[in-house]
Amino acid sequence: MNIDREDFRLPRRVYIYDCTLRDGEQTPGVALTVEEKVTIARQLEKLGVDIIEAGFPANSEGEMDAVRRISKEVSNSRVSGLSRVLKKDIDACLDCDVDLVHTFVSTSDVHLKYQMKKTREEIYSMAVEAVEYVKEHGVPCLFSAMDATRTEMSYLLEILKGAEKAGADIVNIPDTVGFMVPSSMRKFMGRIRDEIHVVLDVHCHNDYGLAVANTLAAVEAGADEVQVTVNGIGERAGNAALEPIVAALLTTYDVDVNIEPKYLTETSQLVERYTGVALSPCTPIVGRNAFAHESGIHVHGLIGKASTFEPIEPEDVGQKRRFVIGKLTGRHSVRVALDELGITEVPEESLLKITRRVKELAERNKLVSDVDLLSITEDVMQTKMFHPYVTLEELVVTTGLNIPPSATVKLKINGEEKIGQGTGVGPVDAAAKAIEEIVGPIANLRLQKFDLSALTGGTDALGAIRISVEDRQKNVFEASAVHEDIVVASVNAFVQALNKAMYAADKSK
Ligand code: MN
Repeated sequence: MNIDREDFRLPRRVYIYDCTLRDGEQTPGVALTVEEKVTIARQLEKLGVDIIEAGFPANSEGEMDAVRRISKEVSNSRVSGLSRVLKKDIDACLDCDVDLVHTFVSTSDVHLKYQMKKTREEIYSMAVEAVEYVKEHGVPCLFSAMDATRTEMSYLLEILKGAEKAGADIVNIPDTVGFMVPSSMRKFMGRIRDEIHVVLDVHCHNDYGLAVANTLAAVEAGADEVQVTVNGIGERAGNAALEPIVAALLTTYDVDVNIEPKYLTETSQLVERYTGVALSPCTPIVGRNAFAHESGIHVHGLIGKASTFEPIEPEDVGQKRRFVIGKLTGRHSVRVALDELGITEVPEESLLKITRRVKELAERNKLVSDVDLLSITEDVMQTKMFHPYVTLEELVVTTGLNIPPSATVKLKINGEEKIGQGTGVGPVDAAAKAIEEIVGPIANLRLQKFDLSALTGGTDALGAIRISVEDRQKNVFEASAVHEDIVVASVNAFVQALNKAMYAADKSK
């Protein structure tokens, strides 16, 4: 490995300070209910974060309520509350019974002049008094110098040392506007590390896409705590993302963290669902494509040994490796995809033909669905290859302004016809409920993910549906379908996922 650790001042262990419920909630358009915050906090506790910043109690009654509830219900992580360097803010945190008060004040000249309208001396006194006030109450204190990376070094060190002397247990260096670069961050943090002897913490924003890199550069310089958010959500372009930082700390840097990485993906999905901030498929570690492979060369390598084209095993972070059928596909991926559908008797020569046709289709269409793969295969083989457990025989959906959407579905399961009915919030939901009525008791599948996209423009666009379902043993099955009618496409995808799940269950018997 060409990682040179020689010049690093790595701590043995890095503390993970999670700001999802505070900075993350400041993401434009995001608002979480108290219940949702408590659920996320419990998940963060399960994940193993050291400190959960639960909110800014002085902000509102609702915020206070959430911080108080989280303090009460979380016991394995420490819970902190945010405050300005004002007594009333600190009192609000103390009222919530937090384990740690995070008090902050701006220190850069631009903030002092235009935002605070105070002198350096005034700010210094306010900071020191706030830390002393927290400590008088016997509560640990974290002090942040807001906009630290744009603060003159001599003044920054003066105020950090003042806070340390006043009893701060942790001092934090925020890169508030996210303008740092890793090489400078390492030098900058190194200077501070030389002078500060309590826990040194860092808080990076992602305005130039460098939040993760700057955070890791700070750790290289000896920072022993990192402030992060799940999925990197936060103000403007967001904060440093927890997931790639944890993965890099554990593998590239080989330092200890208290995180259980196998819970990273479920934590990310929970936060994605509650905040409504959708992940890009290319999101590191937890994104849909983080362990997806399309290129034939890569898939061939991976089948030989996973580490050829992956830095970490997907299962280690709660993910699954996926082989995607597309224009770069090779026969190995097609073989894997056919296997999942229970089609195992395809000779090599036919497999090559199928692969060629798949690639041709992929070049015209963005998605080669399971249905496409099956029809190509049966066409090439000139015989019926797919013996589904379940087929869709009929589908009737009604929807409108004043009637609840409802659906009736007729499925054939192992030769036997069954009819299910359902109502839902929309036609797709109604159809899903109708299918569930029939197969729920048989398959025990839970819908995990549902993506709809238009493959072409206009109202007659082809709708592409990709879904993931999970069985009781936590096996995940993915399926896709394309149709002009999104309800039909959805139902086809459900049916295909069901077939894969039933085949897998049969095979494992
Ligand atoms: Mn921030």
